[in-house]
Amino acid sequence: MSVNIEKLNQIRQELLPYNAALVAVSKTKPVADVHEAYNLRQLVFGENYVQELAEKQKQLPSDIHWHFIGHLQSNKVKQIASFVSLIHAVDSFDLLKEVNKQAEKSQRIINCLLQVFIADEKTKFGLSYKECEELLTDEKLKLLKSIRVCGLMGMATNTENENKIRQEFKQLHSFYSANKQNFLTENNSTPFLSMGMTSDYKIALEEGSNMVRIGSALFGNR
Ligand SMILES: *Cc1c(COP(=O)(O)O)cnc(C)c1O
Repeated sequence: MSVNIEKLNQIRQELLPYNAALVAVSKTKPVADVHEAYNLRQLVFGENYVQELAEKQKQLPSDIHWHFIGHLQSNKVKQIASFVSLIHAVDSFDLLKEVNKQAEKSQRIINCLLQVFIADEKTKFGLSYKECEELLTDEKLKLLKSIRVCGLMGMATNTENENKIRQEFKQLHSFYSANKQNFLTENNSTPFLSMGMTSDYKIALEEGSNMVRIGSALFGNR
């Protein structure tokens, strides 16, 4: 149980030409592993269970940027609202409203990505392209002053078929490009396109990802 340093360095090199950010996915891994990666200057970590994230956040350095990457239930937003730096998988207006409400209470602005359902699988959460576009252009969104919808997230089908994965990422990238003006980012920086994990991050980068979420390559199998 520890960080694969060679892999971390290799991935960092691979991300450079794309100017892409690395979210180290530490779910189910012990605090010690996160600390080890932190000591290697990894500052961004992704978790997908609210309780686990809240526990880890308390025990680890305060300059870590915690991303919530899993499916978030409205009634759990308040447990992470005071510190979470990016929520990757928002898939409804109601959830955005709740994040906005809790952000306001914490006197913060919380960055959010909309999750688009791009996979050919029934089990994954997310919005259809149509629903996503409607949400992004909905006037009501502008009333939520304590959130920023600063990009998109997607998960490709879990398949050996690289071509299928590539097509799914390509389509999400083109939707992202067509909607760039609808994202709100801190200091007008580039909106995020979060796609790619251990098995498919290279394809994701080639297809325009600027944020990859990598767990098992860094911390070992779960
Ligand atoms: C677990 C998880 C990852 C990381 O998966 P690996 O295959 O371990 O890299 C990425 N994104 C999401 C949403 C996850 O839940």
